[in-house]
This record gives sequence, structure tokens and C-alpha cells, in this order.
Amino acid sequence: MQDIMNRFLNYVKIDTQSDSSSNITPSTAKQWNLANRLVDELREIGMSDVSIDENAYIMATLPSNVDHEVPTIGFISHFDTSPDFSGTNVNPKIINNYDGKDIILHEELDIILSPEYFDDLKQYEGKTLITTDGTTLLGADDKAGIAEIVTAMEYLINHPEIKHGEIRVGFTPDEEIGRGAHKFDVDAFGADWAYTMDGSQIGELEYENFNAASAKIIVKGKSVHPGYAKGKMVNALLIANKIISLLPQSEVPEKTEGREGFFHVHHFKGEIEHAEMELIIRDHSKSRFEERKKLLNKIVSEQNVIYKNAVQLEIKDQYYNMKEKIEPVFHIVEIAKEAMESVGITPIIKPIRGGTDGSQLSFMGLPCPNIFAGGHNFHGKYEYVPVESMAKAIEVIVKICELTAHKS
Ligand SMILES: [Zn+2]
Repeated sequence: MQDIMNRFLNYVKIDTQSDSSSNITPSTAKQWNLANRLVDELREIGMSDVSIDENAYIMATLPSNVDHEVPTIGFISHFDTSPDFSGTNVNPKIINNYDGKDIILHEELDIILSPEYFDDLKQYEGKTLITTDGTTLLGADDKAGIAEIVTAMEYLINHPEIKHGEIRVGFTPDEEIGRGAHKFDVDAFGADWAYTMDGSQIGELEYENFNAASAKIIVKGKSVHPGYAKGKMVNALLIANKIISLLPQSEVPEKTEGREGFFHVHHFKGEIEHAEMELIIRDHSKSRFEERKKLLNKIVSEQNVIYKNAVQLEIKDQYYNMKEKIEPVFHIVEIAKEAMESVGITPIIKPIRGGTDGSQLSFMGLPCPNIFAGGHNFHGKYEYVPVESMAKAIEVIVKICELTAHKS
């Protein structure tokens, strides 16, 4: 446990925040600091074919130690942290033998991690927690995943009696800005399937995610003196507002859960002559996803008839539900499930209300379910990770390698 903890603490102290306003890869130069270090470390522990490309994508191999044919599998994590909250000067706190009570993260600023509010904390009584000092995020998303994969590989290297096929490791930049998979060379990775170690609480196993699109609406209006505006003024704000009001009112994030999809207006600004709004469209079902896009198109077309083409709409697909790519190779989920059960974890299988790098990779030809990395409350100051969960994730990785070799 000390190993995983030290490794993790070393990673989180290196600031790797990504930045969506940048067009280069990695989006921030500081991501190289951890990337280069990971390359050295993978070599030090004895991995083969360790490589890093011009975009800071890292790959490495643990060669097979069996004579028979075994599928090549991979484990993937991202080393950037979210732009939503500072990742500079992360100063982790270690809470040994957690007593189940409030954790004071920052006395002066009165920042408290409380089980009253974050009730997941209650299940970790007696465990060792790593938290922030209340001024930064922690970066368990997804440096926990990286620490787990590296430690699992080191364990396999030191325990050649555990039989496994060829294992590939991939670490990516810029996942948090939706670009982790974009420049991932699936052919060079050469795995039959992989797992992202990027889930949250212990037991999570995910192979369903949203179908996702973004929509941008621009309304052009006409400003006229309000006293003399009859029949002349076109108020872009009111038209934009009308479009929102024609969307199904109960299908919004705050009123949906499970596999229920939604429209989410997350940006709205304007004046009489010009209004803009941005929405995201989400649904697990591909057909309902298509219907949602059609509905928005229909609403806008109707307004364009009334307001003489005042409205422009642009819809862009972002990612798709990986389920359709996973179902034909469902044994890869079964192996992960069996691995968890055999190390005493009850798998928590639920649809992701979001996307993962794995969903994009699955559509790029690398089926890629997501497994817990152990952390909670990602992207903010309340982020924490139980060390025991990270230790279990290592066991799961080792077990998946073993089971894959055993079953083929
Ligand atoms: Zn992540």
C-alpha cells in the first residue's frame, strides 16, 4: 500500500492541468513534466517498447510470459487534470484510519469534507484517505489510474509466476478537455481490447455512456425604438427564449437520471439584435438521440418560417454510446467482472451519464470499458481517494491479465 501511495503522491504534486482554449497537444506544456517522468518510470520498472510521441502519448509493453496465443489487452489512463479547478501546488493530506467524521481540509477558509453532504465517505471508515488541502483539486482523476497501472505492471514483472499475455499500457494527455482519444494511435497500440482506469468509486464497471451532441443557435434580431416598433422589431432574445420553451421541459439534467436523456442549455447571451445559445444533447439510446436532434431542427425550422430565417442552428455530434461496440465482445466485460469478484469486490455496473475516452476509443476500433480508479468528487477541492481502493484496483488489473491468459 505504501508503494501505491507514494507513487500517487509524487504524481499529484506535478501540475498537469489541461486547457481547452489551446489548439496544441498536449494543450499545456506542463503536462510534459509528468509525461517525461512516466516514461522514465516505465523504463525503470522494466517495461519494454516504452515510447512517447510528439503529442505526449505514452505507450509501453509488458511481454507475454506464456507460450500459447493470448489476446493482447491494454490499460489506459490520462495524466492531465481538469481545467475546472486549480491543480497548482497540490498539497495532499493523508487521513489514517478515517473516523467517519468531518474532515477539515482548510481551517482558515472553513473548507470541510463532510459525510453529511458527501455520504459516500461513510463506507470508508477505518480506511486511509488522501484528500486535498481545500485549495486545489487532488488529481485522483486520473493519476490514481496511472499509479495503479504502473504499480500493477511492476507487480507482474516481480511475480513472473503469474501468467499473462502481452499487456499494453497507454497514458494520454488532454482527456479532461475531450481530446484524450483524438490522437491515440489505436493501430500502434495493437491491443485486442483495453480498459480505461478512470472510473470513480471501488467496484465501478462501465460500458454504456451517452450519445452526445452539441448545438449552437444564433438568432439575428432587428432593433427599433420600442415606442415605434410595432411590426418592425425582431427581438432575438425572445425568439431564443421561445426555442428553449418549446423543448421538453422535464428533459433537463436536473430532472433526469439513469438512462433518461436530456437537452441542456448551458450558455445563453444576447441583446435585441443578436442572441446566442449553446446546448448539449444527451441520450443513451441512439434512436432517441437522433429524435432529439430532429426535434431541435424542427423547432428551429418552424421559427424560421415565422421570423424569416432569423435563426441559425449548428449541431455537432461529439461521441456515441460504446455499448454497441462492447456488446459483440461482451466477454471483455465478463472478465473484468470476474476479476473484481475474485478479489472480493462487488461490481457496480451502471450507465455513465457522460462519456469516457473509452467511448471514443471503442469507435476507433479498440473496445474499451471503464473501471474504477477509486477517487470521489472529481474536478474540485473535495476530491479524495481511499488508498485501499487504489490497492484493490491494482489487484483487479493483475487479475484481468491472469484471467485473459487463463481463458485463451
Ligand atoms: Zn478522468
